[in-house]
Amino acid sequence: MSEKVDVAVIGAGVIGCSVAYYLAREGIKVALLERESIGSGSSAHATGFISLLGKEFSPGPSFQFGLESYREFPSLVEELEDATGMDLLYQRRPSLRLALEESEEELIKDLMSWQQEHVAVRWINAADVHELEPRLTPTLRGAAYEDESAQLDSYRLNLALAAGAERLGARTILREVTGLVSEGSRITGVRTQGGDISCGTVVVAAGLWSPFFQHDLGFPLPVGALKGERLLLQYDGDPLQVLISSPKRGHMISRLDGFLSVGSTGGRDYDKDQLYQGEDMDRVPTETARVELMQRAIDVFPDLENASLVQQLAGSRPLSPDRMPIIGPVPGKEGVVLATGHTTKGIHLGPSTAKAVTEYIQGGCKQVPASIELFLPARFAGLTQADFQTAGLHVDE
Ligand SMILES: Cc1cc2nc3c(=O)[nH]c(=O)nc-3n(C[C@H](O)[C@H](O)[C@H](O)COP(=O)(O)OP(=O)(O)OC[C@H]3O[C@@H](n4cnc5c(N)ncnc54)[C@H](O)[C@@H]3O)c2cc1C
Repeated sequence: MSEKVDVAVIGAGVIGCSVAYYLAREGIKVALLERESIGSGSSAHATGFISLLGKEFSPGPSFQFGLESYREFPSLVEELEDATGMDLLYQRRPSLRLALEESEEELIKDLMSWQQEHVAVRWINAADVHELEPRLTPTLRGAAYEDESAQLDSYRLNLALAAGAERLGARTILREVTGLVSEGSRITGVRTQGGDISCGTVVVAAGLWSPFFQHDLGFPLPVGALKGERLLLQYDGDPLQVLISSPKRGHMISRLDGFLSVGSTGGRDYDKDQLYQGEDMDRVPTETARVELMQRAIDVFPDLENASLVQQLAGSRPLSPDRMPIIGPVPGKEGVVLATGHTTKGIHLGPSTAKAVTEYIQGGCKQVPASIELFLPARFAGLTQADFQTAGLHVDE
């Protein structure tokens, strides 16, 4: 073994970089390994919407995990911006979750029946929506109005987390991890073409490439790829003052750099023909998605007929079979923690994931934090084949 660290983190996406940053903040010696470049995976393509609405969180621990993460962002962003001098384009604004169809109104109201206990959200009718934003389509039925949601630039967040971790002593190594080193049931390091690195704990945060390590772990690591595309538009009208989303037409957000983000494709009923179920990241923008996304945006905000396309982004989400992240120890193995499969919520859940992983490692990997009991890898023990198709079809974010 040529090098020794406390923790080796595999993958420098938002999850790996969050974990590296939180560990380094506690004085833990970290090596962050990345085979391509920092933020080259799913994290570079995300909208950066940090929203507690939508149907990805269910009542109980899942929602609490999202809420805890949401609450971490203001101080985390301030800390990272101070440390790195970067502007993460972080904004906190009211949000509107629009219903254009009856089924959307039913879904939104159904979710609100329990969300209202935790979030300042209420149903407002179409006239009230138009009072707030008169440019929205006259055909809408109403919306869930939330006092505050948030959005930031996910790529900048990713870079700032990596830079922040480095400033605290973490070492970024641009090398592919080609395998795990074991002694009996204990993982003792990672293998790279530049030599092995030994460590007390390995954190697998390799996004949709995480299944590569299931052979070494002797345990199923079910993460698939769910393609997503979105558009950045130049719109010369006034920016939107609210963060907008709708179950069937996705988000519409005026970013702090002046561009309007609309999207994303992936998993809604009418996407199923384009749903990508590959084993690798598909970064190819498609004309079908561009046309579909523009149409959806115009359905919601007709004046976007006059907007021009600046950039089309295409990436793939690390999809887990139940769309919940996979976080925690691997049954039967010591010295390894998984932090992967965050599906549509990896940007949002980065802080709470990193907090839990850090707490677990700091405690000598003895006690799993209560916040991640729902997300333990153990729930997939014995899984022989994951049904990503079904999981992906229900994604509405
Ligand atoms: C269009 C779109 C919109 C989205 N919008 C949102 C949103 O608004 N809010 C939200 O919360 N989430 C959103 N997401 C989801 C979010 O992007 C992901 O959940 C999140 O980025 C996953 O982060 P990650 O670090 O696990 O994976 P990644 O960012 O993919 O990082 C994994 C890293 O591991 C590296 N790696 C893999 N194998 C190895 C190896 N063997 N050795 C070394 N390095 C390796 C890869 O190169 C990569 O850099 C969106 C995704 C898409 C595609």
